[in-house]
Amino acid sequence: HEAKRQGRARWCAYTPDLAQRHARLAAIEDRLRVALNAHALDVHYQPVSHAEQTCWQRFEALARWNDPELGFVSPAEFIPVAEASGLIGDLGRQIMRRALRQAAQWSRQTRQRVTVHVNVSAGQLQGGDLPAQVEAALRDTGCVPSQLVVELTESEAVVATPPVIRQLNALRAAGVRIALDDFGTGHSSLSVLEQLPVDCIKIDRSFVRNIDVTQRRQSLLSAILKMTAELDTELVVEGVETPGERAVLDQLGVQFMQGYLLCRPVAASLFQVADDRSGLILTGPVLSSQKP
Ligand code: C2E
Ligand code: MG
Ligand code: MG
Ligand code: MG
Repeated sequence: HEAKRQGRARWCAYTPDLAQRHARLAAIEDRLRVALNAHALDVHYQPVSHAEQTCWQRFEALARWNDPELGFVSPAEFIPVAEASGLIGDLGRQIMRRALRQAAQWSRQTRQRVTVHVNVSAGQLQGGDLPAQVEAALRDTGCVPSQLVVELTESEAVVATPPVIRQLNALRAAGVRIALDDFGTGHSSLSVLEQLPVDCIKIDRSFVRNIDVTQRRQSLLSAILKMTAELDTELVVEGVETPGERAVLDQLGVQFMQGYLLCRPVAASLFQVADDRSGLILTGPVLSSQKP
């Protein structure tokens, strides 16, 4: 009891650091509300690359925010604030629509079926109306359900309650695919995989880092590949940064990957239609050096 009391007393000590932290979070919440009202968030796109691809038809949409007062704020900072303050619903709707509108435009331009992955936090499943929301966004943007992959991503676990399972099943029945993001880290675990219907697993980038010099990571990834094959689930490896890492993934037979090595997340305007219209490629001499 004494230890607990002391622990709590320490926790409550109002240090200048803590005061600064509170002020920052409050400012982010205020400015984020303003930004959402003005529809001022941006979306960057990072290809989900298939094996030897050098042009792409599949992209993850990532929220970007450059505030006039706060400057650039990272999603790692503002997404948790959005989740905690209830702004995530509005944010999620806006990003989903933006991403689907972009997918529709790219599909028209390439005559390919361009797919977008959209990150969805646990909080967005709380209202119970995600399937209806998605259906409306698909209809308004002219996308078909197979052009959307919902990535379950969050700082807190998705809890497999009946309403959550019902919504995910409804989305899948409509033809939308579900991906489990950051698999292998804290909240994205085997138990989530066991309880939720998913079509795709995204391995967190921490399992890829230096995989070329870490035998244990290679064994782990190889085992995960067998698991996903057995579950008939697609595997996407995130965070591929070096040719050495890439070589190991190729050798293990990983088909889908994302990472700075292949392409950083960038504005839609930095992609252009490939000459043969088979997909999108990076535009510009500097950026083209980031192609695989
Ligand atoms: P995530 O969904 O796992 O997205 C991957 C993150 O890794 C992105 O960070 C991306 O920029 C970064 N990344 C990609 N390739 C590499 C690489 O090779 N190396 C390294 N070190 N990093 C790489 P970002 O854009 O800062 O987003 C962070 C997280 O914020 C996302 O993680 C996602 O959980 C969340 N987030 C972003 N946009 C949204 C959104 O629209 N809605 C929701 N609910 N969450 C979002
Ligand atoms: Mg994601
Ligand atoms: Mg995530
Ligand atoms: Mg991830």
